[in-house]
Amino acid sequence: MVDPRVLDAMLPYFSEKFGNPSSIHRYGQEAKVALENARETVAQLFAASPAEIVFTGSGTEAINFAIKGVVLHQIARGKDHIITSKAEHHAVLKTCEYLEMNGMHVTYLDVDRDARVDTVLLRQAITPRTSLITIMHANNEIGSVNPIRKIAEIASEQEIIFHSDTVQSCGKMEISCRSLGLDLANASAHKLHGPKGIGALFIRQGVELEQWCHGGLQERGRRAGTENVALAVGFAKATELYVREREHLSMLFTSLKQMLIEQLRRNIPHIIIHAENGESLPNILSVSFPSSHFTLNGETLLINLDLRGISVSSGSACTSGSIEPSHVLLAMGYDEQTADATIRFSFGKNTTEKEIRTTVNVLSEIVREK
Ligand code: PLP
Repeated sequence: MVDPRVLDAMLPYFSEKFGNPSSIHRYGQEAKVALENARETVAQLFAASPAEIVFTGSGTEAINFAIKGVVLHQIARGKDHIITSKAEHHAVLKTCEYLEMNGMHVTYLDVDRDARVDTVLLRQAITPRTSLITIMHANNEIGSVNPIRKIAEIASEQEIIFHSDTVQSCGKMEISCRSLGLDLANASAHKLHGPKGIGALFIRQGVELEQWCHGGLQERGRRAGTENVALAVGFAKATELYVREREHLSMLFTSLKQMLIEQLRRNIPHIIIHAENGESLPNILSVSFPSSHFTLNGETLLINLDLRGISVSSGSACTSGSIEPSHVLLAMGYDEQTADATIRFSFGKNTTEKEIRTTVNVLSEIVREK
């Protein structure tokens, strides 16, 4: 949920502080100051300067802007090839598919059993026509973290622009775009207990991309349209709180995750726990119930858990009215049945040890091994 302190910070900007940042009068200037202060705070997510931050309407919009903005700019230079991975969020994959339908060439890299990209495969995929590499930092379904510093080094050696979808890691991990070597990265406020409907794109100074929305001169002429000051203020408050509480939250999530893993292992021994090795986010745990030992379906499991007040996500998604297994689990090499029998737990600021114990007890009652 939105942190109550975030809500309090936003409320005045829906009522008495309703100026438009483009207006010259005092109400406008008050809104402009609030917007620019918010930009300065949100820039901390990327250890960037405020001029490198563009507010967008979501993480998805920031991703669309990054990819299409670079591609449109580079196409005039004869570069028409993008490299991405098969485990990206749909915001990246569907954007790449759209560009492919419009004449671009796209390489979708295979990933390993934990949804990570192999940098050897990445090197092999690069051609003189590659304009963009877009590979996520942390995977939203599995929580595994990609070797983005290494990927950035490869991109930089070949003078290719590197975008990383950092929606899941932003705020949760310390990200310095400069020391990691990122040209473009994006965030979404609702992942940090901020409001829905606002995201941000980091554009490293010097990186050129086409303007996103045409119209007024807002956002330094990159994204025209009257800015959403209240949501920007909320995003900034959420950032401030998350950065301040990051260490504490990281310790809390790590111990909750460890506890969940241990209790699940003890009570339901044949489960598969994803991304146990290597770097991963402490607030996400993905678990599969393999068909060799279980006969169950993620959707049914999810509904049964929901009836007992436990909200998890499943390893499948509703696409055009039918349930499709997760493209991430399929890319990791799991069969459709196992992908379908997968659930993802994610923790927030308010998750407790008692909730973990209850979850494991309920799961042990519902899940029966063959
Ligand atoms: N990328 C990743 C990795 C995500 O997890 C999400 C949302 O969950 C997005 C992009 C899209 O962000 P938004 O919901 O702000 O559009």
